[in-house]
Amino acid sequence: MRPWQSGDFDRKRINRVLHPLAPAHAADSLHQVDLQRLWDRGKRLILIDVDNTLVQWKAENFAQPVLDWLAQAKQMGFNLCIISNTNRLDRLARLSELLGIETVRGRFKPSRAMFRLAMIKFKCKPEQTIMIGDQLFTDVLGANRSGIEAVWVRKMEGREFGPTSISRFMERLVTGSLYKSMVAPIDESPYPRQLESAKPLPEKTIVHQIVKFCIVGGTSFVIDTGLTIFLMEIVQVGGTKLSTLVGGWVLESIPFVANIANTPEKASAPILGGMAALVAMFNSFVWNRKWTFEVRGREERLAQLRRFYLVSILGAVISTAIFSLVYNAMPDHSTRAKIIAKVVAAGIAAVWNFMGQRMYAFRSSRS
Ligand SMILES: [Mg+2]
Repeated sequence: MRPWQSGDFDRKRINRVLHPLAPAHAADSLHQVDLQRLWDRGKRLILIDVDNTLVQWKAENFAQPVLDWLAQAKQMGFNLCIISNTNRLDRLARLSELLGIETVRGRFKPSRAMFRLAMIKFKCKPEQTIMIGDQLFTDVLGANRSGIEAVWVRKMEGREFGPTSISRFMERLVTGSLYKSMVAPIDESPYPRQLESAKPLPEKTIVHQIVKFCIVGGTSFVIDTGLTIFLMEIVQVGGTKLSTLVGGWVLESIPFVANIANTPEKASAPILGGMAALVAMFNSFVWNRKWTFEVRGREERLAQLRRFYLVSILGAVISTAIFSLVYNAMPDHSTRAKIIAKVVAAGIAAVWNFMGQRMYAFRSSRS
């Protein structure tokens, strides 16, 4: 393996294709990063990766030089913020508390989300911020995408998260080219200016969320319809359709239902259709939680599930009520009227569900 090299990178000598992965500086370890130099270059906010930068993977005991470096940074007046991709939020909270350093939660690096949140939190601009981390494809790439310069530190000794080996392999492919641009420390570098590749930070999150929410809604609709047909029409028990058996049982147990549903199949619809709807809602919960609203950690999963079902069931009630209102308000009760009423009801229910999930069910996903 290529030996580690510390020093400054001359951006002008790096192929443009590699600019998103190019750090401003490489250091042997976190505590080798020259704080005075950062301060002199106008940096006021230091974003720090956790695993293999601050502490070994999974560990919670810090080396003394790391603690000394952090204490010096605080004393000099730097703002410090932890930016980690870890899913172990309990450990992250302990580390943050132990060090007295805040952390932000958001989409994983190299997304710009956590970088942006940290800069908002500490009221710092990208040019006042520096990211320090051990991975090119998360720490450095995320920083460059956010217009922030990065210090790449040598990975600590010890194991790391399994899939990281893929990005380590890719790192090795570009390391040689990056090292070719390494120069002895020069006056104007390595933290000289806003990167030319820096992009503005548009607020795209809600648009992304709406698109993902619609895709998840589509999959849940397919599951709901497919499962309803499967349970009502296909599943048989002892040669009799499940819907006939369930409906027969409903009509026998609750005779009142016969006033509304005159066949066993119709009487079984609320139960079998309801089961399919609950499964489809669970599908929405899983994907909207993980993908649309990007909730991390496991702590609040049950509370979120309860809030999610409350929103979704109320959404179903709203949808039914609006359908009935619109349908009855139509001059005729044709199929066309039915379709229009369904579309209006589904549209309003979708807005309700989206807002309810974003602002209530998964509200703790944003810090
Ligand atoms: Mg790391």
